[in-house]
Amino acid sequence: MKSLFSYNQVTVDLDALRANYRFVQQRVGPGVQIMAMVKADAYGHGMVEAALAFAEVGCRHFAVAELFEGVCLRQAGVDGLILVQLGCDSSEIQHLFDYDLTPVVFDTEALQVLSRAALAKCRELAIHLKIDSGMGRLGVLPHEVEAYAARIAELPGLRLTGLMSHFPLADDVCSNQTREQFHQYVSACSRITSDETVLRHIANSGGLLYFNETCGALVRPGLSLYGYYPDGEQGRQREQGEQLRPAMRLETRVIQVKTVAAGTGISYAHQFVTTRKTRLAVLPIGYANGFLRSLTGQAQVLICGQRVPIVGRICMNLCMADITDCPDVAVGDTVVVMGSQGDQLILADEIADWMGTISYEVLCLFGNNNERRYVNRLEEKG
Ligand SMILES: *Cc1c(COP(=O)(O)O)cnc(C)c1O
Repeated sequence: MKSLFSYNQVTVDLDALRANYRFVQQRVGPGVQIMAMVKADAYGHGMVEAALAFAEVGCRHFAVAELFEGVCLRQAGVDGLILVQLGCDSSEIQHLFDYDLTPVVFDTEALQVLSRAALAKCRELAIHLKIDSGMGRLGVLPHEVEAYAARIAELPGLRLTGLMSHFPLADDVCSNQTREQFHQYVSACSRITSDETVLRHIANSGGLLYFNETCGALVRPGLSLYGYYPDGEQGRQREQGEQLRPAMRLETRVIQVKTVAAGTGISYAHQFVTTRKTRLAVLPIGYANGFLRSLTGQAQVLICGQRVPIVGRICMNLCMADITDCPDVAVGDTVVVMGSQGDQLILADEIADWMGTISYEVLCLFGNNNERRYVNRLEEKG
């Protein structure tokens, strides 16, 4: 299936990924290391391809959600530290050793199981402890950290090599939460160890872009590496010099052009009825491609370098663009769903606004539901 043709094509610009990595490195300074977040198939950009692109420009730390992703990275030849953020099922502990993966721990039972496995293998297992310093999600609460550290110290076969936490609000430059939480985190870390070789990491894209003081020795960017700002267009506009470069583009094409009379109902439920003689371009993309039904009545696409509205309900594999004002459109023409054409540009941020979500979700939806190809630089097609 994978290598066969699809009308809907995601193009990932590897050069943009590398440039964004360098951008982040420059932002945090040479003394700070970067752990590339490549979970969710690198936010839809392709985990292996993205990780290898980051590695080319110096990346030595990667993080995935689940163990199988880490195994996949190793099998593709990715070196360095691979952090498995959600821990792993006891049936798969073997793979941590076989593929040299580092699990994040957040409960005592797992500690025991991991220790036993390490002993049985006569190996030492590096682990990172996750502290919930204010995210209210995964992790050990600040008042529990000492007990955890003590437990890790007494269990044979385990070595604490990292202390991590996560910010819920680092995309909000005006909020004081991030600074306050950072102090909570630093204080929790200092109660556990003064050993500087234990990696401390908390800053996500928002942290490193807007709260530089929280970077520490290692940062964990995701979104910024893919060319977007966690606070959307606002963040991009605030940027003084060079900007992060969106790495993903989504194109489809026109498969039919037709003219219908005024008063014609378009698509399911005839939710849209034409009010004039209307020229329509039928597009072979729909919610199965991540072009969600909730975009109905909201979305625009680029055809012939112009913005045109999608009219009528978006179906599973089809939708219609109103091209009455673009007389030159013909079957086979390229349609840009995300990206630029002529002097028009549609970014994931704008699509996210139409969908009522965030750019992260748009990238995952488009990237993980369409055929992907890779280029070293995006060249624009008509
Ligand atoms: C996804 C994730 C990140 C990256 O966040 P961005 O906002 O994409 O930079 C960092 N840390 C953790 C724990 C995450 O789950």
